[in-house]
Amino acid sequence: MGDVQHTAGSRKQARKTTAYRYPNERAILAVTLTLVILVIALTATATVCLSAVFVLAMLLISYLVTRSQHQALMANGRQVTPRSTPGLHAIVEESARRLQPGPVQVFVVPSRTMNAYTFGLSSPKTVVLHAPLLQAMDGDELRFVVGHEMGHVSLGHTWLNSLVGGLAGIPSPFFASALLALAFLWWNRACEFSADRAGLLACGDLRKAVSALVKLAAGSNARTRADLEKAVQRIEAEDDHPLSGLGEALRTHPMMVRRIEELQRYAASSQYRRLQARMSRDVMRG
Ligand SMILES: [Zn+2]
Repeated sequence: MGDVQHTAGSRKQARKTTAYRYPNERAILAVTLTLVILVIALTATATVCLSAVFVLAMLLISYLVTRSQHQALMANGRQVTPRSTPGLHAIVEESARRLQPGPVQVFVVPSRTMNAYTFGLSSPKTVVLHAPLLQAMDGDELRFVVGHEMGHVSLGHTWLNSLVGGLAGIPSPFFASALLALAFLWWNRACEFSADRAGLLACGDLRKAVSALVKLAAGSNARTRADLEKAVQRIEAEDDHPLSGLGEALRTHPMMVRRIEELQRYAASSQYRRLQARMSRDVMRG
């Protein structure tokens, strides 16, 4: 019975018009495809391992840079303490109670520019304020600036920046490199919007948050009301140019006009009001 079937099968095979296939063709195809898959798997593993080494090296470098930055601060800056700058220290404490950034040291450094930034991979994180900020801004505006930086700390942006920056910097073909760099900057700008929200939560006054941003944009040369009005005009004209969005894509910070619009939108939201009320309750409770 089986024999009959077998013969029938062979006869069927022989009738196929492709029966002339060389005996090992299929086996060789299978070996070739297996090799292709193996090579892809091996090169992918090598890329993952090399990328991991690259990112670890970048993290180590940014740790060392951070440490030397910190040493320079210790030499040139003044740490904010209840003794050195009691007013500013109170603002720092209040903002920290609302935003809960964990251990943070704040320094004031001499400078000609109006700037604030934060850094640190390990605890405590460091917030740096350029000295002209203290002259140009009132308490609520400083609360916004300090809150903005503490927001970066609370949301983990300081260490994420080193990690994501390392990942986005992985050596890759030109097009891929450019794409990763653009994506990294895009994320950077999103972080600024988040930190601005923290600033608003710390200061609780949209008008003051906006005037702090205007003063930052105006720079330390802006002293009079007319200088600030000029800065406002410049900000309002920022997105007039059709190519301004393209320029923004290459920067770590969004256009000031967009930051102000985003803040206004957030300040009007029920999400903001709820969170602001909750933070005030938590502070009252201690
Ligand atoms: Zn920022």
